Amino acid sequence: MKILITGGAGFIGSAVVRLAIARGHHVVNLDALTYAANLENVAQAAQSDRYAFEQADIRDRAALDRILADHRPDAIMHLAAESHVDRSIDGPAAFVETNVIGTFNMLEAARAYWTAQGKPDGFRFHHISTDEVFGSLGETGQFTETTPYDPRSPYSASKAGSDHLVRAWAETYGLPVVLTNCSNNYGPYHFPEKLVPVVILKALSGQPIPVYGDGGNIRDWLYVEDHADALLLVLEKGQLNRSYNIGGENEATNIDLVRTICAHMDDLHPAGAPHADLITFVTDRPGHDRRYAIDPTRIRTELGWRPSVTVEEGLRRTVEWYLANRDWWQPLLDRDGVGKRLGTA
Ligand code: NAD
Repeated sequence: MKILITGGAGFIGSAVVRLAIARGHHVVNLDALTYAANLENVAQAAQSDRYAFEQADIRDRAALDRILADHRPDAIMHLAAESHVDRSIDGPAAFVETNVIGTFNMLEAARAYWTAQGKPDGFRFHHISTDEVFGSLGETGQFTETTPYDPRSPYSASKAGSDHLVRAWAETYGLPVVLTNCSNNYGPYHFPEKLVPVVILKALSGQPIPVYGDGGNIRDWLYVEDHADALLLVLEKGQLNRSYNIGGENEATNIDLVRTICAHMDDLHPAGAPHADLITFVTDRPGHDRRYAIDPTRIRTELGWRPSVTVEEGLRRTVEWYLANRDWWQPLLDRDGVGKRLGTA
């Protein structure tokens, strides 16, 4: 299959590119190369003669039309997005432009292309989204595919808007779509401003490890390579016009997650242990959702998917990866003041 993957130079998109190439697919990676992108993430996959790269912005409809006509993909996986909640609070405009208008452009370009191709049966538009669209849970309960939307940050509101557009294009124009809503990902190639790499890099440099509020916010953590595997499965076997929740069944409070990372650091990088002594509670993020939890029954029972690693194992692999790959993250810290902002430069 030839798959057009948007956002394929980002964290999750690059994991999908690597896996799709490893499984013998052809990949066209469409990415604007924003601050969050890094073509190093796909350096090995890019050696394949089944890989092509197009630098383009999903806000540019004409570019999307040209790329679809040139490459004639069998399916589209749409991951390109502004993805960082803290950045969405500081500057929401980019989130509306890329996540809402950009997705609208992708849908319109896909609809025109699919129609021009004679509406082939196998074509699919797979929209990749987040569990944050469902809002915040209390102590109990889990998000299912029918949980009402209740986004609370500019990021989650923009993703919710994009999800609604995708469903409307399926209902109104018959565009063949599948949707997925996934919990928090972690793993190799995660941009250094996100929680898991922040903890590792702060611990490595012996600096205070910031934890929002009381550390009691609960997330469901999924190893990024397991997410990529689930996404390819939904693309190939998911029912049309259906959404699938993807989660790791690994609920953890932020403070427990941070302590687990510190314990792996103590083991793998004993200098500076015990790293948990560096944990420092900082003022909470405004509107910080308390708890997310995914009910993955549909993807498990319909498609037979389950995660391959526990959070314990996945976090260990992630710590090992960051310790072994300073060449990957150091230039990112040196770039655009990211390191300075995080205090890790
Ligand atoms: P990321 O920020 O690491 O990567 C996003 C990629 O999209 C980057 O390569 C960037 O250059 C590209 N991009 C941004 N704006 C663009 C534009 N206007 N045109 C073209 N390309 C553009 O994000 P990620 O964490 O890999 O997330 C990928 C997708 O998965 C997003 O849609 C996100 O909402 C969703 N998601 C993320 C998580 C998570 O935990 N990170 C969980 C569930 C769903």
